[in-house]
Amino acid sequence: MFKLNKRIITILLSVMVLSTFLFMAFSASGSSQTATSYSYNGTAPKYVFMFIGDGMSFAQINSAEAYLGKAYYEDKKVDVRRLNFSNFPVAGACTTFDATSFCPDSASTATSLSTGYKTHSGTINMDVTKQVKYKTITEMVKEKGYKVGVISSVSIDHATPAAYYAHQPSRSNYYDIALEMANSNFDFFGGGGLLQPKGKAGDQADVLELATKNGFKVVTNKDEILGLNNTSGRVIAMNSVLDSSKALPYEIDREKSDLSLADFTRKGIEVLNNPKGFFLMVEGGKIDWACHANDAGTTIHETLAFEKAVNEAIEFYNQHQSETLIIVTGDHETGGLSIGFAGTGYSTYFDKISHQNKSYAEFDSVIKEYVSKTSKDNAKLEDLLPDIKAAFGLITSKDKDAEIMSDMVLTEYETQRLRAALAQSIVPKSDRKYTDEEKVLYGGYEPLSVTLTHILNNKAGIAWTSYSHTGVPLPVFAKGKGESLFVGYYDNTDVFKKLSSILKLN
Ligand SMILES: [Zn+2]
Repeated sequence: MFKLNKRIITILLSVMVLSTFLFMAFSASGSSQTATSYSYNGTAPKYVFMFIGDGMSFAQINSAEAYLGKAYYEDKKVDVRRLNFSNFPVAGACTTFDATSFCPDSASTATSLSTGYKTHSGTINMDVTKQVKYKTITEMVKEKGYKVGVISSVSIDHATPAAYYAHQPSRSNYYDIALEMANSNFDFFGGGGLLQPKGKAGDQADVLELATKNGFKVVTNKDEILGLNNTSGRVIAMNSVLDSSKALPYEIDREKSDLSLADFTRKGIEVLNNPKGFFLMVEGGKIDWACHANDAGTTIHETLAFEKAVNEAIEFYNQHQSETLIIVTGDHETGGLSIGFAGTGYSTYFDKISHQNKSYAEFDSVIKEYVSKTSKDNAKLEDLLPDIKAAFGLITSKDKDAEIMSDMVLTEYETQRLRAALAQSIVPKSDRKYTDEEKVLYGGYEPLSVTLTHILNNKAGIAWTSYSHTGVPLPVFAKGKGESLFVGYYDNTDVFKKLSSILKLN
């Protein structure tokens, strides 16, 4: 009898303890607060790198790793080659939603990373009423004596770089953003150019002249950029080779003699290097653009160019291990990229991506050239097959290499899709009338180019779900002083909070 009572008491006690635990667990899960640590007892790192792969989440990173691992296919062994930053000692993950959307933009997400606040998509470092300006981490460290650098492969007035120096109700205020750069007390701006250096109508004071008056050295020539060092003073360095959006060319299209994102990162480090320390933000901005266009080959090459830029920071870290922190993350995912496709099931063929040697954007130029000399009634896919083979490796069964490149032969279904896409590409953009299905097939892109990348990507076992940003979480990789705070699953605003704790900013 006594024994039984003892057992009942034990069971009752266990139930009570368990329900207390469950209550605590459910209370925690019902809150939007994440259980993450901001407490840091060490001294602040002197050198801080913040790398942001725009549009880069797990699938972008892992598809680059699978692409690099493709050599193993030869002996049928699947493997990946890790990117340098996915090998960092610490990894965490963060959510990216903004004040009004689970599919946020770069303005609001970079605001969260640089100030710790949520805001509207399109807004840079201001609150949802667009009245209150938020102080950025770069302004805070500048006050502490650090030098500050901002680098991007897209134009330096674009949303992500702007979030590290500007405060604007709209990311489209390119001139006002550039004015904030010219009037800032920061030390290095590098990479792409400016979209509106003289205002929207081109009738306002030249921002670069103002910057020069304010003590910046403006350099746009490759040799001058390569000659920069820590005696150059405050610098704005813009690549001499820029696309129509004032961005560096896609890595897949870049002439090897032209400067890369890694070159700008190395120069940024050399200009900023000083005993009081520096904070350098580097954005791989065109990972996002390639993902919007659903072009996996170009995305992978952009991600690898970003990895090379990170390598410059790792080399610096190796010289200053006890004083350096490197963070690598994204701002949001773009394109809904997935490894795996309905048409290929459990199989992937990343080696097929290596046939691509032009971006969708370069192929758009090929189409433009063809359209300029071909009438609508005379256009036929056969005319473009040599260009398609050269750029994407895709061939028809009639091609002379059809036997040796059998895995690159277009199916009848794929060929039909290309014919339908060409029928749209041959029509001036303003005259194209899309069905609902065509809207999903082409988005806002050149129909033939986007159909080619879709087909090549799908053959490789890669698929896309959107031409926009998605709401999937991002990885956060950390290496160096304070790295342990970045373990766990938290929010993008926490990245700022952790950094400001490590840098003793609060
Ligand atoms: Zn985007």
